[in-house]
Amino acid sequence: MAIERTLSIIKPDAVAKNVIGQVYSRFENAGLKIIAARMVHLSNSDAEKFYAAHKYRPFFKDLISFMVSGPVMIQVLEGEGAIAKNRYLMGATDPNKAEKGTIRSDFADSINANAMHGSDSLETAAIEVAFFFSEVDVYSR
Ligand code: ADP
Ligand code: MG
Repeated sequence: MAIERTLSIIKPDAVAKNVIGQVYSRFENAGLKIIAARMVHLSNSDAEKFYAAHKYRPFFKDLISFMVSGPVMIQVLEGEGAIAKNRYLMGATDPNKAEKGTIRSDFADSINANAMHGSDSLETAAIEVAFFFSEVDVYSR
């Protein structure tokens, strides 16, 4: 499998629960390297741009107000099959349907406040990494 990069966001609910370190340990234990990271309190317009693909979904307004409700921790993960591996560690979008032991199953409360974002393809990963990080902020190691 190829070495990939993916964008991960620890959402405001999980940051408020003080579990950034526990989430980072899961990445590290799965062989994913954190090659860039920053904490940001998103504005409405940042969140709307980032989630533009969901603009016409019925949950869009709730998603945006949740994402701006507090700081988020944003990181680029690198490793073998990083995109699928990160999605596996996160678990299903709805924490009630997420497999036991996944981040969403352990730390999320609802399908809206679901602790994590992770890119879903090579194409979206490249776009999402570039949305938050410039070339000089991303390290190969
Ligand atoms: P994922 O984050 O697992 O890739 P999606 O890309 O489908 O899921 O949706 C983006 C985000 O929108 C989800 O993480 C969740 O916060 C929110 N969301 C998705 N579906 C719903 C829903 N049916 N009701 C409320 N919020 C939702
Ligand atoms: Mg998605």
